[in-house]
Formats: sequence, C-alpha cells, structure tokens
Amino acid sequence: MSTYIEVVETIATEVVAKHATEVDRSGAFPQASLDALREAGLLGLLSAKELGGMGEGPRAAALVVERLARECGSTAMVLCMHYAGSAVVEKFAPEAFRRDNAAGKHLLTLAFSEVGSRSHFWAPMGTAEKKGEAIYLNARKSWVTSANHATAFVWSSQPMAAEGASSIWLVPAKSQGLGSSGKFDGLGLRGNDSTPMVAEGVQVDETALLGEDGTGLAIMLETVLPIFNAMTSACGIGLMEGATSAACQHAAGTGHQHLDSKLADLPTIRAYLARMRIATDQARLMLLDTLSAMESGREDTMLRVLECKAAAGESATQVLDTAMRVCGGAAFRKDVGVERRFRDGRAGTVMAPTTDQLYDFIGKAICGMPVF
Ligand SMILES: Cc1cc2nc3c(=O)[nH]c(=O)nc-3n(C[C@H](O)[C@H](O)[C@H](O)COP(=O)(O)OP(=O)(O)OC[C@H]3O[C@@H](n4cnc5c(N)ncnc54)[C@H](O)[C@@H]3O)c2cc1C
Repeated sequence: MSTYIEVVETIATEVVAKHATEVDRSGAFPQASLDALREAGLLGLLSAKELGGMGEGPRAAALVVERLARECGSTAMVLCMHYAGSAVVEKFAPEAFRRDNAAGKHLLTLAFSEVGSRSHFWAPMGTAEKKGEAIYLNARKSWVTSANHATAFVWSSQPMAAEGASSIWLVPAKSQGLGSSGKFDGLGLRGNDSTPMVAEGVQVDETALLGEDGTGLAIMLETVLPIFNAMTSACGIGLMEGATSAACQHAAGTGHQHLDSKLADLPTIRAYLARMRIATDQARLMLLDTLSAMESGREDTMLRVLECKAAAGESATQVLDTAMRVCGGAAFRKDVGVERRFRDGRAGTVMAPTTDQLYDFIGKAICGMPVF
C-alpha cells in the first residue's frame, strides 16, 4: 500500500502541476487538485483512524502542504486552511461531523480575520447573541480562503456570555444570512477564493460551539497556531523549492550564444543560486526542528512555532525575489515558472500572525515579557 508521501507525490506531479498555471491565470479554484486529494483520502489526513481518517499530525500536514506548494501555492494554501480547520474540528466537533470530515465530505477553512480588527485575529468584533435556544452570529470577515467552496467555517466571535476574548463556532456554509463578496482577484494565490464574508443574523445552536464559550483564544493559540504556522512555513518552503529548481534549470539551460556560455557559468548567478539553496534549507531545518519540538513538547516549542513562520515568510520573499533576478527578463514570462511563485510567496508575510507581529511576539518572549 502506498504511503501518503507517495500518494501526494503522484497527485502533485500528475494533477496539481498540470493545473497550476491555468489556476493562476484565471483565478479559478483548484477543484481538480482538491478532487484528487479528496479521492486519495488526503482531506482526512488529520482525522482519527477509528473514524476513517489517516490519523496523522502536524508533521504530515506540513510535508503534504510543502510538496503541493512546489507546484501550486493556491492548492497548498487551500489545503493548509482545511487542515487548520480540521485540527479544531478533530478536537471539539461532534463525532458525526468528524466522521464526515474523515471521509472527505467537507472542505473547511478558518474565518478569523475581520474588517474591524484586521490581522489581530485574537480580537474578533463579530458577535454571538443568544435569544432563547438560538444563537445569532453577526460579523464582517475580511478574508476567508475557500469562501465559496468550503462546506463549513471554523468561525470566531466575541463570547456569548463568558469572560474572554472570543469563542469558536462551526458554521455550515449553507447557513441563512451568510454571504461572500464574489470572486477573488488577487496578486498571488489567485486560486484561493479568499474573499470577505458577512454574517447577518446567522442562526446556530449551542452544538455549533467548539470548546467552551470564551475559550476561543486558547483554541487559537494551542490548537490552531502551531499547525498553522508550521503549514504556512511549509508553503513558503515549497514555493522556494519550486522557484530554486526552476531558476537552476533556467541558468543551466540558457546562455549567451555569442560567448558560448550558460547563465550558470557566471559566478554571480551561481552565488545567487547558492544563497537561495541555503535560505531554503535553513527554513526547512527550522520547520523540522519546530515539528520535533511540537512532538516532544519541548520547552522552546512556542518560540519555535513563532520563529518558523517568520523565518520562512521572510526567506520566501527574498529567495523568490532573487529567483526573478537570476532569470532576468525571462522571469517576467510565465513559462519560466518563477513569477507565479514570486507573487504567491508574498502572502506568507502578511497572513496573520504577520511577520511584524511575530517579531514583536518573539522579541517579548526573549526579553522575558508576557507574549499575549
Ligand atoms: C491570500 C490570503 C488568504 C487569507 N486567508 C485567510 C483565511 O482563510 N482566514 C482568515 O481568517 N484570514 C485570512 N487571511 C487574512 C490574514 O490572516 C490577515 O488577517 C491579513 O492578511 C492582514 O491584512 P490586513 O490588511 O487586514 O492587515 P493590517 O492589520 O491592516 O496590518 C497592516 C500592516 O500592519 C502590521 N501590523 C499590524 N499589527 C501589528 C502589530 N501589532 N505589530 C506590528 N505590526 C503590525 C502588519 O504586519 C501589516 O504589515 C488571508 C490573507 C491573505 C493575503
């Protein structure tokens, strides 16, 4: 029987790579790639084995996202958001929902960022108001990946009644009063379907509450942040890996005929490629160390979780910028395979927690100040 690594390798090369350029050009959701991942059982990667899932954890999620990101950032990020949602669902949702998720019947995502509090996802302004047995959600979400394709949203709001910064809900996509604002036309990750969403009096009941009322921040920090940071780091690494490989191929195969030399014969070009390779490997090593820390419960786990996303996000913008330089004017064309990754790679630094927030959190942590 094939391992999930072998399965994702086949899907990445035979399906995801084939659709990546068109997904980017048209901004279409990478449906064929998601269908292939679903058919292979990979939407249930994090679901418990006894419920029909693969029973894997953050390491597997990061490896799958990294492999897909080498071919298509949009597919990788859609799956990253599904796995982030799955981590919460796996811990707090009713068994029937978890069973369906394990079977690939759901596509999940996080609906945290809001128009009012923007990247400060820990401070939702959207409300959850209880009237009798019903609860009504009202919010203006600023970015929701897979907004028009998800089957359910892992949704943040202010608490109903409890103390605390937030509560987390499982909101079905077909809920009355839930709306998204059309098609995403972004700079990068163009197949992500990342649009704003509005909830106007969306009715749920208490079974939709994930965890206890008022415990949203703990869920965000303990359940979402570690796996989300590891996976966005993995996405950046995959994009760097894809661009480094495309740039090496271009440099080794293209040259100045009148000099009878390849681009790779230029020491400056080789040095740029070497720096790309080093930065990619450094980010990968930090991710692998973060995953080891998470698995063993090491004391520095939270520091590594914060570091790995900042490191990969910043490295990705630099490595992808260098890839553009190495490939010269040719890099402006789509066929070289660098400019799409250059655009996709920019999102990692501004997806919350943004790099600048991470710098602030890390700075506080190493100065012995309270982080959150
Ligand atoms: C492609 C894409 C997909 C996304 N998908 C989702 C999704 O599925 N679900 C979801 O919930 N969100 C999603 N987001 C939103 C994302 O997580 C961030 O909330 C969003 O990108 C922040 O942008 P903003 O303009 O609101 O940032 P702002 O909050 O306006 O920040 C602007 C700048 O100020 C800086 N800044 C803000 N606060 C601080 C601080 N305290 N210290 C230092 N610097 C600070 C930021 O780093 C940034 O550089 C997505 C974003 C993108 C780009």
